[in-house]
Amino acid sequence: MKYVIVTGGVLSGIGKGIFSASVARVLKETGLEVNVLKIDPYLNVDAGTMNPNQHGEVFVTNDGYEADLDLGHYERFLGIDMSRKNNVTAGQIYSSVIEKEREGKYLGSTVQMVPHVTEEIKSRIRSLNGELLVVEIGGTVGDIEGQIFLEAIRELALDEGRENFFFAHVTYVPYLKTTNEFKTKPTQQSIQLLMRSGISPDMIVVRSEMKMDRHSLKKVALFGGVREDDVVNLPDTKNVYQIPEILHSLKIHEKIAKRLNLRVSDEFTWNYPKAFEKKRIAIVGKYLGTDDAYKSIIESIFLLGVERPRILDSMMLEGMDESELSYVLSEFDGLIIAPGFGKRGIEGKIAAIKYARENNIPVLGICLGMQMMVVEFARNVMGYSGANSTEFDPKTPYPIIDIMEEQKRILKLGGTMRLGSQEMRIIPGTKLREIYKSDVAFERHRHRYEVNFQTFPEMFKNPGEDGYKLVVSARSKFVEAVEIDSHPFFIGVQFHPEYRSKVGNVHPIFKAFVEVMKE
Ligand code: GLN
Repeated sequence: MKYVIVTGGVLSGIGKGIFSASVARVLKETGLEVNVLKIDPYLNVDAGTMNPNQHGEVFVTNDGYEADLDLGHYERFLGIDMSRKNNVTAGQIYSSVIEKEREGKYLGSTVQMVPHVTEEIKSRIRSLNGELLVVEIGGTVGDIEGQIFLEAIRELALDEGRENFFFAHVTYVPYLKTTNEFKTKPTQQSIQLLMRSGISPDMIVVRSEMKMDRHSLKKVALFGGVREDDVVNLPDTKNVYQIPEILHSLKIHEKIAKRLNLRVSDEFTWNYPKAFEKKRIAIVGKYLGTDDAYKSIIESIFLLGVERPRILDSMMLEGMDESELSYVLSEFDGLIIAPGFGKRGIEGKIAAIKYARENNIPVLGICLGMQMMVVEFARNVMGYSGANSTEFDPKTPYPIIDIMEEQKRILKLGGTMRLGSQEMRIIPGTKLREIYKSDVAFERHRHRYEVNFQTFPEMFKNPGEDGYKLVVSARSKFVEAVEIDSHPFFIGVQFHPEYRSKVGNVHPIFKAFVEVMKE
């Protein structure tokens, strides 16, 4: 196994994930069997319990793992499905070491960071297969939590031979307007921190707001102990899907191959959207802290060659009268009602759904968004006043959305939802069937509540039947999707199509959603 290790310096959130995914893609193109691993030094066992406002979306893999959103970048860029093996957190490492200690597996020894924790980390890294493994270490060098992972990697490079390792350090160089210059000092210091951990970089990737001048790049090379040629400047770009192309044109695959003694071809067939249609799409949601909170949904639209949707604060819509609502919402060509947890903002979502339903605006509800579509329909069409999900109103007279039976006994929050890929049947004669062109599909889930079909069957009809009702368009043990057949696009899905979109292969539901706006 050969390794490309990606570390970060100066700041987090500068695109280490995109860089790692891009390098992996370029290397995959050359014919290598590439695998990826994201290391997250936080103590959470997985990202499932983390607030999307701070940390961005929780990405769900086929095998039901709640991952850091970087796994989404890997899937989209590489076109390969990830699994729980592709993410390691400090929480997992420590719990497994402590568990082993309790089982008596280290009997007699004092359990220590080195070697026990480092061995645990190394064995997790070694358990991945492929010819080349790209390992991205989350956070920035110097973080207390990250230190032990750098130590483990340093040991691993010693065990397996330094010649099998390529270290890329991704940093940020700020531009100081007052003096008109790029400031490389924080980068120099982050490289020093890295070297203090016993790792010297083979390449320094410098992120910056604008293209850097040669003089500043030279300085980075000098202080970083690498050749000028091995400093790569990546200025900000609106279209991150350019990065693999840029890296390929900089011959990064050749540099890595040379260092790792690999033979690679110059093959490169990366195809991504370059022009963007102006469609005004709103994601009605409540996580406004970071654009990353709805990452996979946003990318599912962007990868179709449509401008990125805007996030519309569902709280803001609450309490608006009809003319105010129409003033705000009529600006949009389509609405996506976002997934989410907790009561805050749901009435705004319901108001947006009502507007879209009555005004024939294309609307796609995802997970909580779909549940609120059903609630809206119950309240405003069926006349079930006070209808709700028992997640928000446990005493509602119309529990249209209710907790799954098997969930009622579960008290722990982490990793206990209905998670991961599950099979569903798509009902013939529905819009969804036209979209999928198939009778079965596997989709990824992350929820506790579901449509209470058993108690309220009268709300639904079969395709072709008369009357203004909801059509169930996909089923498993649960209702998986609903639609209104007389509406141009009113589709709600209990699952998350956004997690399956890849570059060049966006989920067909988003394609259909965008398509209908063009008509
Ligand atoms: N909160 C809802 C549930 O648990 C929806 C979850 C979601 O949107 N991912 O069922």
